[in-house]
Amino acid sequence: MTVPRHRVGIGYDSHRFGPGRPLVLGGIEIPHTAGLIGHSDADAVTHALIDALLGAAGAGDIGQLFPDTDPTWAGADSIGLLREAVKRVHAQGYQPVQADITVIAEAPQLGPHRARMVAALAPVLGLPASAISIKAKTNEGMGWIGRGEGVAVLAVASVEAS
Ligand code: MG
Repeated sequence: MTVPRHRVGIGYDSHRFGPGRPLVLGGIEIPHTAGLIGHSDADAVTHALIDALLGAAGAGDIGQLFPDTDPTWAGADSIGLLREAVKRVHAQGYQPVQADITVIAEAPQLGPHRARMVAALAPVLGLPASAISIKAKTNEGMGWIGRGEGVAVLAVASVEAS
């Protein structure tokens, strides 16, 4: 059986809002009344993207690569984790092609920050900004996202054999 030249992966992540932390999403700091709680910088956008890329390349998942029991990754800059994940993708014989990300959060509004997030992520993947799409939605006031308790992110990424 031949190994497919094009592969697709999906990623999901969520983090809870908490006080006294900066809000980091897509590799940038976004002004808000609360940040996200996590072992690393809790950048749910970058974490979902990492899992989508690892899934596409068949390279495991973010928890295997960067265990939250490992003090190495405490407070880690997730862009650095993304850089490591891209190396794993390359090691599997693939390169990133494109990614599509949906952020679900009641607040803050992410539209004004979209271009800056794309500009932070795209070069790490070795891609032009046009290859990364970031969409933002609210949850229409429903459930834990609607109550503003946290943020959820879905990501799809495709890779091709290098
Ligand atoms: Mg995470």
